[in-house]
Amino acid sequence: MDKPYFPNYPWLQAYWDKLTRYLQQDRLPSALMLVGDEGLGLSSLAKSFAHRTICLSPNEDNTACGVCESCLLFNAGNYPDFYHLVPEEGKESIKVDAIRELTKSLALSSQYTKPRIVIIDPADAMLHQAANSLLKTLEEPSENTCLVLVTHRLSRLPVTIRSRCQLMVVKNIELVQAQSWLNDLGCKQASQYLRLANNVPLLAHELWKKDALAVEASLLNDFLALLKGRLDPLLFAEKCIKLNNLPCLKWLMSGLNDAIKYAHGTVNHELVHPERLADLKVLVEKLNLADMHDLLDQLAQLKVLESHQVNQQLMIEEFAIQSYSLTLK
Ligand SMILES: [Zn+2]
Repeated sequence: MDKPYFPNYPWLQAYWDKLTRYLQQDRLPSALMLVGDEGLGLSSLAKSFAHRTICLSPNEDNTACGVCESCLLFNAGNYPDFYHLVPEEGKESIKVDAIRELTKSLALSSQYTKPRIVIIDPADAMLHQAANSLLKTLEEPSENTCLVLVTHRLSRLPVTIRSRCQLMVVKNIELVQAQSWLNDLGCKQASQYLRLANNVPLLAHELWKKDALAVEASLLNDFLALLKGRLDPLLFAEKCIKLNNLPCLKWLMSGLNDAIKYAHGTVNHELVHPERLADLKVLVEKLNLADMHDLLDQLAQLKVLESHQVNQQLMIEEFAIQSYSLTLK
C-alpha cells in the first residue's frame, strides 16, 4: 500500500531520514532551510515533515499515522499549530503583513505539546521588509517551534537569514531512483524524459504527461522543414507560440547545438539527439557555422526575454523569418 504521509519520492529518502532523526533524537533545530532545484519535491518533503512532526503516534516506519487527532486536524487543514506561508494566489511575493501575523501568533503560547511548525515556501518570495521582519523571529526563536524555509534560489535570500538556518541541500539525486519512480507510474521512456527535464524528476513527470518527447520531435522536424524552405516561417512561429507551456526555445537550442557539434566532428554519444544524425547532416549542409551561431544567439536572447513582457510572437517570427531566409542563400 502507498504511504500517503510520506513524500513518496524515493530520491528524497535519505533527506527524509535525516529530518525525522531530529524528531527521534529530540533535537529539532529552530530553523531549517531546504535548498534545491524546483521539481525535486522539496515542498512535499517540507509538508510531510510538518505532518510527521505533529503526529501523536507515528508509525514504526517513521511516517505519520494519519489517524490520530492531530493527523486528522492536519489533513483537514485545521491544525492550529501549523503555519504554511506561501504567496497569495496570483502573487509572487510573501508580504511583510503575513510575516508580522506569524510573529504575533508565535508570541502566543502553544496549544499542543508537539512542536509548532512553520513552512515558508518559497522563502525567497519574501520581500525585503518581510525578510527583515522574519529575522527577529530567527534571532529570538519561540520555544518548541521549528521554521522550515524552502528555497530554489538560495542566493536571493539575505545572508543574515541563511546564516540562522540549518541548511539541507538536496542535490545529485540518484537518477536510477527517479527512473524507476517514473517507470512505476507507467512512463516507458523515463531516461529520455529525465534528459529532457535536466534530470529534474517532477519536471520529467510533467513533460511526460504532455507527451513532450513527441512534441519535441515534431518541433525539430518543423525546424528542419523551415530550413529546407518547405515550411512557411509564420506558420512555424505560430506553432512555436502555441507550445508556450513547453521549453521550445531550449529544444531548438539543443538541436542547433547538436548541429554545431556535428559540424565539428563530435562523436555520437556527446549529442543530445544521436538518433537524428541524418537531420544533422542536412542542417550542416544548409547552414554554415556562423549562421548556426547567429541563430543560437537569437534563441538565447529570446530565452532571456521569455519572462519579460516583450512581444515574444514578434521575436519568434523574426527568428523564423531569418532561419527561412538562410535557405534562400
Ligand atoms: Zn498521527
